[in-house]
Amino acid sequence: MDSIKIEDLEVYAGHGVFPEETSNGQMFLVSAELYTDLHPAGKSDELTLSTHYGEVCRLMNNFLRQNTFQLIEAAAEQLAREVLLKFPLIQKLVLELKKPHAPIGLPFSCVSVKIERGWKKAYLGIGSNMGDRKAYIEEALKRLKANEEIRKMRCSQLIWTKPYGGVEQEDFLNGAIELETLLTPYELLEFLHELERKAGRERKIHWGPRTLDLDILFYEDFVSDDPKLTVPHPDMENRLFVLEPLSELCPYYVNQISGKSVTRMLRKLQEQEDRDV
Ligand code: AMP
Repeated sequence: MDSIKIEDLEVYAGHGVFPEETSNGQMFLVSAELYTDLHPAGKSDELTLSTHYGEVCRLMNNFLRQNTFQLIEAAAEQLAREVLLKFPLIQKLVLELKKPHAPIGLPFSCVSVKIERGWKKAYLGIGSNMGDRKAYIEEALKRLKANEEIRKMRCSQLIWTKPYGGVEQEDFLNGAIELETLLTPYELLEFLHELERKAGRERKIHWGPRTLDLDILFYEDFVSDDPKLTVPHPDMENRLFVLEPLSELCPYYVNQISGKSVTRMLRKLQEQEDRDV
């Protein structure tokens, strides 16, 4: 991807563990590589179609001067988040924060941290089979949208489906969601659990009735076999109610584990279900 590079922006600020570092301040150097599509601005010569690097520098300067962190790790983390939130055309950035005068008491040229952060595409499954299902789903969509670390959200059509997993219960309303997020996979999972709790969900029976169920189906190219968070979602290939709405949003997205696209998984499952009838 194209990028804009800022090297060694000098900012006098007060970050550090020692009290004199916060009271006296010292020089920090910020370098940032901002990943963004430069083609529209390149073609048109229009600044509004690109990211104004002067404004990025001003934001970085103000942010580092107006906030105080003990650790350069925290300063870099929060600064990267701020830049990504304020400049929507930046998809990803690599940010390096140098502290050349860190109080180490030994000769050295510089100490620094370097991080890479960006908007990640994720796909979620959403479902409800208790009470006013549409209202539970709409409320969850509203809360997802209200989170500033989530953007570009799209929801598939909602479909009515029969319950899965052998527990006698009412029909489900199901859908899929596409979004971009700054949350890590585990932070996103925690946020989804919070939404489930807010919908009054109680985890009594596995695969039992629920006011709201939210699953992470895909998260960029993240792969995990942790039982707390298995991604891509392991049951996806057996669930028409996941694959049907998902195929509306991302028919060609490939499951990194099975190597099959959403369309292919859906077709296989439909063929299998036709055979079983
Ligand atoms: P469920 O009953 O479907 O809501 O399952 C919830 C449990 O599955 C939680 O304890 C989660 O930590 C765990 N889990 C594992 N992988 C995922 C995933 N991809 N999305 C959501 N929950 C998951």
